[in-house]
Amino acid sequence: MLQARTELRYLKGVGPRRAEKLADQGFRTVEDLLYHLPFRYEDRRSFAAVADLVPGGPEQTLEVEVDSSRLIRTRKRGFTIFEAQLSDSSGRIKGVWYNQPYLTRVFVEGRRAVLYGRAALNRQGLLVLENPEYEFLEEEDAEGVHSGRIVPVYRKLAELKPRVLRRLIFDCLARIEPDTVGPRVPLDVSARHGLLDRLSALRGVHFPANDENLETLGLRGSVAQRTLAFEEIFLLQLALALRREGLQQQPRDVVYECGDPLQTRLAARLPFELTGAQKRVLSEIGNDLVSSHPMNRLLQGDVGSGKTIVALLTLLVAVESGLQGALMAPTEILAEQHQRNIRQLLEQAGVDCTTVLLKGSLRAAPRREALKAIKSGEAQLVIGTHALFEPGVEFRELGLVVVDEQHRFGVMQRAALAQKGARPDVLVMTATPIPRSMALTLYGDLDLAVIDELPPGRVPIKTIVRAETDRSQVYAALEEAIEKGRQAYIVVPLVEETARSDLKAATELADQLRRERFPDLEVGLVHGRLKGDEKDRVMREFAEGRIRLLVATTVIEVGVDVANASVMIVEHAERFGLSQLHQLRGRVGRGSALSYCVLMVGGESPGREATERLRVMEQTSDGFVIAQRDLELRGPGAVFGTHQHGLSDLQFLAEILQAPRLIETARAEAQAWVAQGPTGRSDAEGLLDSLGGIWGERLALARVG
Ligand code: ADP
Ligand code: MG
Repeated sequence: MLQARTELRYLKGVGPRRAEKLADQGFRTVEDLLYHLPFRYEDRRSFAAVADLVPGGPEQTLEVEVDSSRLIRTRKRGFTIFEAQLSDSSGRIKGVWYNQPYLTRVFVEGRRAVLYGRAALNRQGLLVLENPEYEFLEEEDAEGVHSGRIVPVYRKLAELKPRVLRRLIFDCLARIEPDTVGPRVPLDVSARHGLLDRLSALRGVHFPANDENLETLGLRGSVAQRTLAFEEIFLLQLALALRREGLQQQPRDVVYECGDPLQTRLAARLPFELTGAQKRVLSEIGNDLVSSHPMNRLLQGDVGSGKTIVALLTLLVAVESGLQGALMAPTEILAEQHQRNIRQLLEQAGVDCTTVLLKGSLRAAPRREALKAIKSGEAQLVIGTHALFEPGVEFRELGLVVVDEQHRFGVMQRAALAQKGARPDVLVMTATPIPRSMALTLYGDLDLAVIDELPPGRVPIKTIVRAETDRSQVYAALEEAIEKGRQAYIVVPLVEETARSDLKAATELADQLRRERFPDLEVGLVHGRLKGDEKDRVMREFAEGRIRLLVATTVIEVGVDVANASVMIVEHAERFGLSQLHQLRGRVGRGSALSYCVLMVGGESPGREATERLRVMEQTSDGFVIAQRDLELRGPGAVFGTHQHGLSDLQFLAEILQAPRLIETARAEAQAWVAQGPTGRSDAEGLLDSLGGIWGERLALARVG
């Protein structure tokens, strides 16, 4: 018998070399392997017959024999076509694979293969299977692991052949000692929600019963799948609830002076009146700051709702009490802008407060100086990028941290921050309106405050979708705006900061505009690969109005604030997500002039789908509606960058987000469990044990284990 914790190297067929490879990918034990879940299923309860295939029909599973094969080298260098003649008792069909010459060694005459794919007509009008997936049936499959059932298909793991991996998992499930697969959801909870026990769920997810509905399985809607999804989200919610409770039980390290004269003084001298929403949020934050445990709050507010001033007024409470405050921004450009704005506001109000900027690109000498000021406490307000929280940065006494544009910093990063030693108050700010289910998953350990009101006098931005054929018109309008003294952005997509060709496109566009269209204008170019001081120079010149037209990659996405800029043209808008476009668009419309955002759809014949998607931007300026649409269209991973959040660790993320009720239920149960107190409960040890193993380190769960 196997145990859940049996190491994989003890399994038949897994040698020490393979075990090492598996371990590299994070798979050490039988239990780890059992959580390598199939990403789809193939219906091999019965095979389709070759004779029944029709072009463009559904994906089918066939069992065929290889009759012959050949490799065709085309005139295009290096491009090959591999063809195999395949047959079953009903007929023959050709399988075609491109650029996989090694298949000559695989599709050997006489071998039996299972294929999965869709039939299509080739150029000669013959029925073929193009690039079907394949798997070879070597020996008899007496137990019916690979055929005669709904078969799981896995992502590749440590170069194991698909059938070897499937066999391995099958054996583990058959031979594991049930007692070693203890519950991860308390039994009463699991009973209340009609869930299976863990081993049954794992079995049902890997090898569904033959009477399961394939469609439901495809949507991960079987009871077995629901059980594992619930388990996953329950454990995360439990971790968050414990973390939250842990934070709440921590006594305050720092005590603030009440009265906040600095805050009041600055607020009184602002060039504008705070909005009702800003005042409300500030009073919620104020309550946090005088409560007996440190603040952990998420501040949500659409682009342009005025989060920065709330951050500054909050930070001043710490400064007032002789503590340090830190403001962390996601990019250097933003950190620099915050520094500039904050200094100006402080000066205007005659508030004496030393600010220091700390960023990764600082040279050795100024860096040393900044570090010294931070350590001595001379720096009362420290503004920076995540360089702020690198080892080697020591604060004298850090009271309060504000993290701007939170969507780039996830739950894991926040945990890292808390591990800095001190127990500062933390306010995280995001402009991405987060659907409740997502918020509970990502920020279940935070209190939420929302600025749901824009400052008065904002003129809505006019957004229009245009195609390449409209370009000269668009430029004419741009020219007109610039002649009126306005400034404009032209944004070009950059797939990655390192994507050379896009960078070239940006550079060429800037050159071309300078040469052909606006010879008399100062046209600037800013992108992520510019050196820090160069970037700073360009942005400053744009902010001061010397540069009238700024060609930029998405480095300007968040937060950059130039009130006189009232036109934005986004090139290849179809390559951006809607939420990202909303952020971008927020860079204009900051002054009182009517602003325009032109979304250029690239290419000769722009896809209808892309154009339709972009119409959402024409129709609404409500960030929440846009985020919701974006989420539906692109999925949570693309919208929120699960990688940064560490959410890629969640197997069931997609279904979790589509089933908000599941999250609410799991969250309520997790909170109830924590509220009752784990002590004295028979399931506590096992649960906390699993929890520590899965989330302990990453969420800095002080009280677990
Ligand atoms: P965001 O929430 O996107 O970070 P900012 O804090 O950058 O927004 O504010 C956007 C602009 O609105 C800034 O120019 C800021 O000075 C201005 N602003 C903020 N609050 C108010 C207010 N209550 N009334 C008028 N203008 C405001
Ligand atoms: Mg901002």
